[in-house]
Amino acid sequence: MSETLENLYSETRTFPPPAELAANANVKAEAYDEADENRQWFWEQQAKRLSWAKQWDQVLDWSNAPFAKWFVGGELNIAYNCVDRHVEAGHGDKVAIHWEGEPGDSRTVTYSDLLKSVSQAANTLTELGVTAGDRVAIYLPMIPEAAVAMLACARIGALHSVVFGGFSVDALATRIQDADCKVVITADGGYRRGKPSALKPTVDEAVAQCPSIEHVLVVRRTGEDVTWGDKDLWWHETVEQANDQHVPQAFDAEHPLFILYTSGTTGKPKGILHTTGGYLTQASYTFNAVFDIKPETDVYWCTADIGWVTGHSYIVYGPLSNGATQVMYEGTPDTPHKGRFWEIIDKYKVSLLYTAPTLIRTMMKWGDDIPAKYDLSSLRLLGSVGEPINPEAWMWYREHVGHDNAPIVDTWWQTETGAMMISPLPGVTASKPGSAMTPLPGISADVVNDEAESVPNGGGGFLVLREPWPSMLRGIWGDDQRFIDTYWSRFGKGAGVGDEWIYFAGDGAKKDDDGALWLLGRVDDVMLISGHNISTTEVESALVSHPSVAEAAVVGATDPTTGQAIVAFTIPRGNVDTSGDAGEKLIQELRNHVAKKLGPIAKPRQIMLVAELPKTRSGKIMRRLLKDVAENRSLGDVTTLQDSTVMDLISSGMQESK
Ligand code: ATP
Ligand code: MG
Repeated sequence: MSETLENLYSETRTFPPPAELAANANVKAEAYDEADENRQWFWEQQAKRLSWAKQWDQVLDWSNAPFAKWFVGGELNIAYNCVDRHVEAGHGDKVAIHWEGEPGDSRTVTYSDLLKSVSQAANTLTELGVTAGDRVAIYLPMIPEAAVAMLACARIGALHSVVFGGFSVDALATRIQDADCKVVITADGGYRRGKPSALKPTVDEAVAQCPSIEHVLVVRRTGEDVTWGDKDLWWHETVEQANDQHVPQAFDAEHPLFILYTSGTTGKPKGILHTTGGYLTQASYTFNAVFDIKPETDVYWCTADIGWVTGHSYIVYGPLSNGATQVMYEGTPDTPHKGRFWEIIDKYKVSLLYTAPTLIRTMMKWGDDIPAKYDLSSLRLLGSVGEPINPEAWMWYREHVGHDNAPIVDTWWQTETGAMMISPLPGVTASKPGSAMTPLPGISADVVNDEAESVPNGGGGFLVLREPWPSMLRGIWGDDQRFIDTYWSRFGKGAGVGDEWIYFAGDGAKKDDDGALWLLGRVDDVMLISGHNISTTEVESALVSHPSVAEAAVVGATDPTTGQAIVAFTIPRGNVDTSGDAGEKLIQELRNHVAKKLGPIAKPRQIMLVAELPKTRSGKIMRRLLKDVAENRSLGDVTTLQDSTVMDLISSGMQESK
């Protein structure tokens, strides 16, 4: 991408916070000024939300940039902050997790229960020889033991490396090998799509290729038969029998907390390293500020899997450090029926919901009548994360889920940033559908051109972060050079220009006329059409704004006349007829619709109507595979693809349409 992104889309709707929410908001507008005045002082105030065993001597040490140290000399225990201190404050009987299994079984876990289980698991891991600095792989379904296992590792200073429970033998084995894990914590299986889905056989195969693994700790969830080896131990025969007293030890603020591999949307996943004090400070602060949590009355639900960073920061560390009550759900949104999510919200009276655009668009496809059948009146705030949310999906979320008054917080962040970076503040910001709006207090995000110059309002370019932030990654596990090359060598000092270290996020963005930020997808995905840089996101949003479209993915394919031409893959809404001529007519209508919305330059050369799109396991569209199809190439790395049959269908459809 050179210079700027064309700015094709304009949005004029704004939605100010409801008056009552604004009046009682945890964080008010002053926070921005305070943080601007003195960023380090601001983060120091947020660190005081936590309980420290030893106070820090220095807020930030940036002398070895881009390797940061935050709260230097401070000491704390993360598990103590997420569990013990709430029990000590008299909240032991408060529900930490309302767990809902896919088959409809449920469990209630209080903070006292959590303390007992985490202490037992910490004692068991210690007996198994795990000590501070060791790595433990976690490969579990969405059951409370997943949170317990993570907190137990944190409690004894071992690093967890959570691997999504849907990943293959290879994906699990390479992640175990990359981090030299000593123990794997897994289960016999979990429930998915109405039946038990085994995990243990995958672990058995992976462990056979991983000599570093000494023990495999197995939770019994489905009760299905498993093959038993000499490294295997049942969770209920070890952890649940262990001593439930465990004294947490304080660790250095920069003690490593976890390794987490990125989603793999753009290529080979990177083992992102996070540490203790700064990470928890920002995870805890942002959860409080952006979800406006009132721990006494709110019920929060994040639909992400614990295998993604969203599950780390906003199922485990953010909510639990705030003493929140949350829902955890094991299964898929359409089992046993397509109203399952709304049923759960109704059942637990969920007030704060955090989900992903992919799910919102799926719900749009399924139809408005489904959420309408449930009582969603408990919801008072809605969040979105993972991809840009198209303005029409945002509106659908607001109208059909948020009964037209719950504010939506569109939160931009990455595995690398550890916690939210750009988002509205629900009690302050008048939000625009599709925009993540402004950097949070204490965060300095900017949109720049090729020369790292800030673009004016109305301009587009690269999203960068100009100042270090507490929950920033401390590196890529075992590969400092890749860390520097990937994030710090595009702009600023790392590129040999000036004295400022500038973090390159890899995402395109624009500032609208009011200075609000719009995320426009991956820089690698930007299309160059007849000399114009056009973002995939804007064309996709134009398609989704048509009433017949639920979801769209757009790529630039080589074209003899225009350099690249736009090829769009579009999923129609459930009630739309696409058979024969009706399909052809819709395609023409959609091409014209995009041209009308964004200008003739953005008119797609080709539109294919498809039933599904290729997505990562975390639900993000993998445009690079669609580009391979559009350009008639064999497919690149598909290991993080959710469903490989999707690509066969799309490829054969593409051949027919030629
Ligand atoms: P990889 O780095 O391996 O390709 P990934 O980037 O998909 O994988 P994550 O760290 O899970 O892995 O995702 C972060 C990315 O998700 C961001 O860089 C951005 O592209 C996208 N993203 C997350 N939240 C938002 C949001 N609110 N708006 C727009 N994009 C978002
Ligand atoms: Mg990424």
